[in-house]
Amino acid sequence: MNIILLGPPGAGKGTQSANLVEHHGMRQLSTGDMLRAAVKAQSEVGLRAKAVMERGELVSDEIVSALIDAELAAMGDDVGAIFDGYPRTAAQAESLDGILEKNGRKLDYVIELQVDEDALVDRITGRFTCANCGEGYHDRYKLPEKEGVCDKCGSTEFKRRPDDNEETVRKRMQEYRAKTAPILPFYEDRGIVRRVDGMAAIEDVTKAIEAILAS
Ligand code: AMP
Repeated sequence: MNIILLGPPGAGKGTQSANLVEHHGMRQLSTGDMLRAAVKAQSEVGLRAKAVMERGELVSDEIVSALIDAELAAMGDDVGAIFDGYPRTAAQAESLDGILEKNGRKLDYVIELQVDEDALVDRITGRFTCANCGEGYHDRYKLPEKEGVCDKCGSTEFKRRPDDNEETVRKRMQEYRAKTAPILPFYEDRGIVRRVDGMAAIEDVTKAIEAILAS
């Protein structure tokens, strides 16, 4: 099974991917995570992407498609892929078709997480993660049970994304509306788009996605 999780920043793509990885043995291919790793490693790609990401703009199609191509080629054929945050433009959607074909895969579903933009700013500007295991938290909705200690691994180090501030979030949403949402009709023509209410409780969103995958 190969699926795309589509939705603006903060829609819950990462959270829902984590569930699919844990319970369905799928693999999450997040171009955002790959780019953040490249920035951290100060690789050539990272150096080119850093400032663009900080402004909330999109990194070039060539860079992200090359990242996806390399990851998919290195994956076992029997592992399903979750594309999280990719494709984000029409050119990337076309590249993905070629990359999937080359790897003998086909796209099963494009799941759109539908969300209210103002609520997203509130969601994103409060989020932080454990620096050790990546568990997600939120200042207002999900604090660790013991203050300052990760529930999952016990680490006391947490981090916030530099692009999770209101100004950049608004820019990222603008990019989503202008460049990413318009790719939906491309997939709608193939009858593989499914919509889920991304404002529902996390468990309910998970159930809705599971029902789509089982259909
Ligand atoms: P994300 O973690 O998916 O919210 O991505 C964080 C940032 O990385 C975005 O705001 C973009 O600057 C960049 N990025 C991630 N994925 C892509 C993509 N598919 N195309 C272009 N830029 C991307």
